[in-house]
Order: sequence, then C-alpha cells, then structure tokens
Amino acid sequence: MKLILLGAPGAGKGTVAKLLTKLDGSVQISTGDILRGAVAAGTELGKQAEAAMKAGDLVSDDLIMGIMAERLKEDDCKAGYLLDGFPRTIPQADALGEMLTKLGIELDGAVNLDVPRDVILDRLTTRRTCSNSECQAIYNVKSMPSKVEGVCDKCGSPTIQRDDETEEAITKRLETFNEQTAPLVGYYEGKGNLINVNATSSDAVVEAIQAAIK
Ligand code: ADP
Repeated sequence: MKLILLGAPGAGKGTVAKLLTKLDGSVQISTGDILRGAVAAGTELGKQAEAAMKAGDLVSDDLIMGIMAERLKEDDCKAGYLLDGFPRTIPQADALGEMLTKLGIELDGAVNLDVPRDVILDRLTTRRTCSNSECQAIYNVKSMPSKVEGVCDKCGSPTIQRDDETEEAITKRLETFNEQTAPLVGYYEGKGNLINVNATSSDAVVEAIQAAIK
C-alpha cells in the first residue's frame, strides 16, 4: 500500500496507519513523530521546528520536503508506506507529486478521514502520548487508557499531554488545518485519487480503505 492519510488533528491518522502497517508490512511515516523525535533529541532540525509546533502552526514546507525527500529513499519504503500528516499544504502536495513522478511511483490514493468536529475536540483533549521519543505510543484517558494511569504499557515511560494539546494550541491547530490542509481534499479529488471515509471506529476505517483499494 502507498497511501496518503488526510484528516484533521485527532481524526485518527496515526491509529489507522498503525493498523494498516500490520496488514502488509508497509511503514507508517509520520512527520509529526519525526519532528517530535528531533525536538526531544535537541537536533538542529528540532530547534528549527519547535516554536511553530508548540504554537500549533506548521513548520516550513522546505524543512518538511527536506525530511521527506530523505525518508522516502530509505529501504523500508519498498514495502509501501502510509503518509501520516504529510502532505499538509498544496505546495507540499505539488512537491510530493513531482518527487514520485521522478521515482516512477504511483500512489494508491489519498484517504480523507472525515470526522465530526465535536468528536475531534473530545479526542484531542483526552489524548495522552508516551514521552519516550523512541516510542510515542498513543492513549486516550476515556477510550484507550494505559493499564497503569500515566505509564506507557509498551515501554514504561510516563505518558503526557503534548505541549500542543492545550485548548489554545488545539484551536490553533484546527484553524491551521482548515486553512492549509483541508484544501488538499479537493486537490486529490480533482486528480481522481480521493478515498472518502467517514467512519469513526478505526476498524471500520481500515475495512473501508481495504475495500476502496482492492
Ligand atoms: P496532529 O495530531 O496535529 O495531526 P502531528 O503529530 O501530525 O499532529 O504534527 C504535529 C505538528 O508537527 C504540527 O502541528 C506541525 O507543527 C508539525 N508538522 C507535522 N507534519 C507537518 C507537515 N507536513 N508540514 C508542516 N508541519 C508539520
């Protein structure tokens, strides 16, 4: 599978990507995870991205394209990939299109995870993320709590609320999404590549995607 996952913050891109990787060995590539890892490690990339991320703004297209040009060349991409959180702007989508054409690769499609705003808001405020940058497992205090409150099931590190999961930053991220990322739905629809999914349970989303790309 080679898919783009589109959807607002909290739409479930990461959860769905993880489920899809189990089906055929394709890899999840999350620009958010890559950036958070860089911030935690204090690399140059992390320093450049940190302020924008904390405020709920996007980091620059140039920075993202630099990361993705390298990432998509790695060996594990041969098995397919689920792009989670990328592209996020029209210029990123154009640049990705050019990159894939050069590589002779065609995507299976862009999946639009269409989730109502009240569901999104509820999910984001109750989301907890493992603080270990190597792990970044995701929990939800209501629907998917860790076995021991505040402790990651997978690696034992503390689970935390992300810096950009304050109410103010969430509002800003949703605004940024509506302005800069939502137009990608029309963009991929125009190319005949859009797969619309409006299920809320992750399993139903995965089934709908499998049916669409068969
Ligand atoms: P979300 O839950 O908002 O989908 P992500 O984990 O995908 O969060 O991204 C977290 C933050 O990382 C974003 O708010 C943004 O600042 C930055 N980011 C991630 N991917 C991109 C991208 N493709 N372009 C620009 N900024 C990005």
